[in-house]
Amino acid sequence: MNEPLKIDVLTIFPEFFSGVFEVGIIRRAKASGIVEINIHDLRSFTTDKHRKTDDRPFGGGEGMVMKPEPIFNAIEKLIGTCERERYPEGTKVILLSPQGFVFKQSLARELAEKTKRMVLICGRYEGVDERVNEALVTDEISIGDYILSGGEPAAVVIIDAVTRLLPNALGCPDSAVRESFTENLLDYPQYTQPREFRGMKVPEILLSGNHKEIEKWRREKALEKTRKMRKDLLELKDS
Ligand code: SAM
Repeated sequence: MNEPLKIDVLTIFPEFFSGVFEVGIIRRAKASGIVEINIHDLRSFTTDKHRKTDDRPFGGGEGMVMKPEPIFNAIEKLIGTCERERYPEGTKVILLSPQGFVFKQSLARELAEKTKRMVLICGRYEGVDERVNEALVTDEISIGDYILSGGEPAAVVIIDAVTRLLPNALGCPDSAVRESFTENLLDYPQYTQPREFRGMKVPEILLSGNHKEIEKWRREKALEKTRKMRKDLLELKDS
């Protein structure tokens, strides 16, 4: 049995995560030792009386910025060093940020395959003091071109997408092979019982038992959907 993927989340709102990892695939992956998820309150890594995790930005401007000290303290405690070059092999320190590389299924796969330890830093307010990025972060990741109020929802997205790709996390391993973004295609349409619902019938071909023809139909439908919704994926496919 592989060692579990160890995931640590640094946040000033640990309560955000209550319950989110207690359902479905992630709950099962935790229970069977495939993944270990620990949520850390950044305030517990402060050293001042007021347990301050943010302060005013130098140079003026709106809002607050997350201070570097609690984050450096947390990394030192969790990883044993704040020197990125000395992180143990397979360690990723990820800053959730709208300025990062946009998270995609290919990156989820890479993280699931190559990572042993992942520390996710959730920003809030105007963001995180840049020295965290300069010294500690191995990967700056965005989950899309929009602004969230904090990194916590982004951390949940990454943990979910990566965990389900870990060996033995899915009840049916084939589901991760045949889904949207594999081969730069979207998934084909799915149907279940009843065969007819409110006058809408399941396509005959799916009831035919002819697996070769079903496969062909699904491929065509996947291409059709991708052409309609995500032409950009097809361009990637051909490049
Ligand atoms: N001032 C920052 C900017 O314009 O780039 C936005 C800060 S945002 C309000 C607060 C925090 O939410 C960020 O530090 C980051 O951790 C998180 N966040 C916001 N949007 C995100 C996204 N698209 N992907 C990942 N994290 C995001």
